[in-house]
Amino acid sequence: MGRTRMKRILVTGGAGFLGSNLCRRLIGDGHEVVCVDNLQTASGRNMEPFDGNPRFEFVNHDIVEPLSVEVDEIYNLACPASPPRYQSDPIQTTRTAVVGSLNMLELAKRLGCRILQGSTSEVYGDPEVHPQPESYTGNVNPHGPRACYDEGKRCAESLFFDYRRQHGIDIRVVRIFNTYGPGMDPADGRVTSNFIVQALRGESLTIYGDGSQTRSPCYVDDLIEGMVRMMEAEPGAPGPVNLGNPTECTVAKLAETIAAKVGNTMPPTHHDFPQDDPRRRRPDISLAKSLLGWEPKVDLDEGLDRTIPYFRDLIAGD
Ligand code: NAD
Ligand code: UDP
Repeated sequence: MGRTRMKRILVTGGAGFLGSNLCRRLIGDGHEVVCVDNLQTASGRNMEPFDGNPRFEFVNHDIVEPLSVEVDEIYNLACPASPPRYQSDPIQTTRTAVVGSLNMLELAKRLGCRILQGSTSEVYGDPEVHPQPESYTGNVNPHGPRACYDEGKRCAESLFFDYRRQHGIDIRVVRIFNTYGPGMDPADGRVTSNFIVQALRGESLTIYGDGSQTRSPCYVDDLIEGMVRMMEAEPGAPGPVNLGNPTECTVAKLAETIAAKVGNTMPPTHHDFPQDDPRRRRPDISLAKSLLGWEPKVDLDEGLDRTIPYFRDLIAGD
């Protein structure tokens, strides 16, 4: 094992896309992982590689209820993350983001342990500042269809910083920008997974609006590396820190790139532009660079080449 001592680490949302990639990384680093998940947006498939691994424990639990486990560190990633899924039961989304975070902070307080929050670029809403630095306080509609997620995550940040101020908890907050890669659920409705699955099935790719809106897709391994570095950074720098890939891409260009890679020649279909959908998004990662010595290494071309075979295998097994 490397420079870190072996720890017992709680990952909430550990059965999901980012959580399962994080569990694999932590187990690979020699740690023990307790994965807590209620399987609301996960099938359980991502945990199959950990079957029988004595350093992996799964607890089926909704973090909206208090939790008692003994661990050295907590990554709080439990929350539905794709717009269709977090909007399908918005009240539960807010509960998870707010009450769930409160429960995990209470646990960190009782254990006296470090806790990292998986926050989101959605705290910037539909941004009027571009690219987005951490100092930008955002442009969020507090009562629209995305509010359950955006405001839930904003309230969670507020709770994290209040636990630091009021109780001296060692918190870390990372703001994750659109991430893709193996481990995504093909049915969860995010843009990269939708486009790859549609392209592989020979269907038309569904572009919402005219496709001129932008995102800055980050490959999952880069994101996980940044998150682990943030957890391991010296105390005193709680964040928030943006983690994402600063290379921006329009949704139309993403569709074209994926269709070309898969060999899909169907013209895309255009659908209504969703309410409050951010028009553009790109992280300013200067802080992550200076604080963590981190920046993404995998560009979109390589990231898609690593991701498409994952979806091809899944679809072949359907
Ligand atoms: P995901 O849906 O694949 O994973 C979320 C996991 O949380 C699922 O396994 C789900 O079953 C679980 N979960 C949901 N509600 C729960 C609850 N109340 N109790 C216990 N478990 C619960 O999504 P993801 O992409 O892996 O996202 C993980 C975290 O990262 C989320 O908090 C999300 O907000 C954040 N994030 C992700 C992205 C991204 O691009 N992937 C971007 C910004 C933020
Ligand atoms: N999008 C799209 N087609 C899809 C899914 C999403 O055009 O099939 C668009 C969506 O409107 C948004 C962008 O792609 O502008 C990213 O959407 P996603 O749901 O992946 O994440 P968001 O960043 O909006 O949370």
